[in-house]
Amino acid sequence: MQDSILTGDRPTGALHLGHFIGSLKQRVALQEQYPQTVLIADMQALTDNGTDLKKASQNIVEVMADYLAVGIDPTKTTICQQSALPALAELTMFYANLVSVSRLERNPTVKAEIASKQFGDSIPAGFLTYPISQAADITAFKATLVPVGDDQLPMLEQTNEIVRKVNRLANKQILVECKPLLSNISRLPSVDGKNKMSKSLGNTIMLGSDEDSIRKAVKSMYTDPNHLRVADPGQVEGNVVFTYLDAFYPDQSYVNELKEHYKAGGLGDTKIKGILEECLQELIRPIREERQKLIADPQYLISVLKAGTEKARKVTDEVAVAVKNMYGLML
Ligand code: ATP
Ligand code: MG
Repeated sequence: MQDSILTGDRPTGALHLGHFIGSLKQRVALQEQYPQTVLIADMQALTDNGTDLKKASQNIVEVMADYLAVGIDPTKTTICQQSALPALAELTMFYANLVSVSRLERNPTVKAEIASKQFGDSIPAGFLTYPISQAADITAFKATLVPVGDDQLPMLEQTNEIVRKVNRLANKQILVECKPLLSNISRLPSVDGKNKMSKSLGNTIMLGSDEDSIRKAVKSMYTDPNHLRVADPGQVEGNVVFTYLDAFYPDQSYVNELKEHYKAGGLGDTKIKGILEECLQELIRPIREERQKLIADPQYLISVLKAGTEKARKVTDEVAVAVKNMYGLML
């Protein structure tokens, strides 16, 4: 069987440079090699935003505009909407009976996210069970490759546990196991270097940023606080400007030269920030311009999403029927 890919995003906001380097760029390359599905996980977006009526809906077109603006091509990648595919919700309910509450509570990714979200003692049940819904997504698309960072590996382990359990119960293979497509890119930090760049922390450089905000973001970027005079030797580790140059500058050998120069002394922060700013302006300008055109026509973006969702309906329904058949429920 040919490998196929499932990835996606929660529509909790427009996408940023972290998404670009951590996932979007790879998707643009992967769509040339594999059948690829990108799921806009609106139900998952609501697992920690259940009382916010507009959160998911208002961000769907934003995310669609980001996808198309960076070069995800809907003729090569199926882009679809989670809540419009009932099979995903059905599978979640069936799988939920095969997973214990304590297994969910032990999932390291969920544990870490619960700690960072400060739910207190009111963790939404939907949030605790989102690994089950991810298992439903992955298996419904028969995805064999799932691009993830190493922090997401426990999610795939949990998916494969469900796959094996179902196949054992069915006494035949009705679900397929998946493998991680590990990205070796570490999380892009925010401009102040304090956290990873993240939508919900509000510390992002968006893919639609205008020139001025890019300039301001680079100006305020955290460098080496002890690098006071140009002539002083500076530190490269933990210096956000160099982390960004590593991530975005097209010529790594030039970045290495700059690092040596900076470490030796004689290279000022203003100079390296100037180089980074130009690089980010060039990267974001075409994306911003394309994005502006796309967002001006939300109906077009919605029609692309609907067409992808229709395509996805067939395969996801098939898997839901297979699981219902296992229980003899297709009467
Ligand atoms: P939220 O605040 O809603 O969790 P987020 O900005 O953290 O949003 P996610 O939707 O959680 O973004 O991220 C989806 C995927 O995007 C991640 O699994 C990862 O591949 C990529 N990604 C997000 N932020 C970064 C980052 N700072 N650096 C690299 N990749 C990132
Ligand atoms: Mg996140």
